[in-house]
Amino acid sequence: MEKKYNKIILITAPSGSGKTSVVKHLMKQFPSLAFSVSATTRKARKSEKEGKDYYFISEEDFKKKIHDKEFLEWEMVYEGKYYGTLKSEISRIWKEKKVPVLDIDVQGAIHVQQQYPVNTISIFIQAPSVEELKRRLQKRGSETDDSLQARLNKSTFEMTFKNHFENIIINEDFKTACKEVEKIVGDFLNN
Ligand code: 5GP
Repeated sequence: MEKKYNKIILITAPSGSGKTSVVKHLMKQFPSLAFSVSATTRKARKSEKEGKDYYFISEEDFKKKIHDKEFLEWEMVYEGKYYGTLKSEISRIWKEKKVPVLDIDVQGAIHVQQQYPVNTISIFIQAPSVEELKRRLQKRGSETDDSLQARLNKSTFEMTFKNHFENIIINEDFKTACKEVEKIVGDFLNN
C-alpha cells in the first residue's frame, strides 16, 4: 500500500460517545472523504446495511482474512466479536483519490497510528460523563443488560487512552462537537 502521500482520518471514542453521528455529519460536509467500511462478525442492527455500515462476515471468514493478512488492523472489540479494517478498503478509497475516515475503537486507532505516523490525523470523541454514556446506550435500545455493562466497562477503560490522540472533543452538545471536528478535518485536508 502507498504509505507516503495518502491521508487517513481516524475517529475513535468509547462506545456511546456519539462518534458515529459525528462521522455521518462529517461525511456530508466534505465530498473528498469516504467512510472506511469495516468487516465485523457481529450481527447487523435493523438500520444497518451490508457494505454500507459494515461487511458482515462469519467468524470463519474473518479468521481466514487474518491468516491471509488482509487486515490493516483488527481487534476483538467485544467478547467474541471481531472488527477489522481491510487493506483493500483503504486502497480502494485512495485509488478514488479520496481520504478514508476510519470509525474504529481505541486500540485499533493506535495500531493504525503506529503504521501510518505521517499524514494521519486522530480525533478522540468523548461523552461528557459515564452517566450520559449509559443513558445514550440505553436509548439506542440495541443492548442487553450484559452487553450494555460490557460496553460501559470498555468505555471507562478506553477513556484512559485519550491522551494518545492529537485532538480530543467532548461531545456535550452535538452541533458544537460537529463544528470542532469540521474545523480540524478542514485544516487537515487543506494542508
Ligand atoms: P459497534 O458494534 O457499536 O458498531 O462498534 C463497536 C466498536 O467497534 C466501536 O468503537 C467502533 O468504532 C469499533 N470498530 C468498528 N469498526 C472497527 C474496525 O475496523 N476496527 C476496530 N479496531 N474497531 C472497529
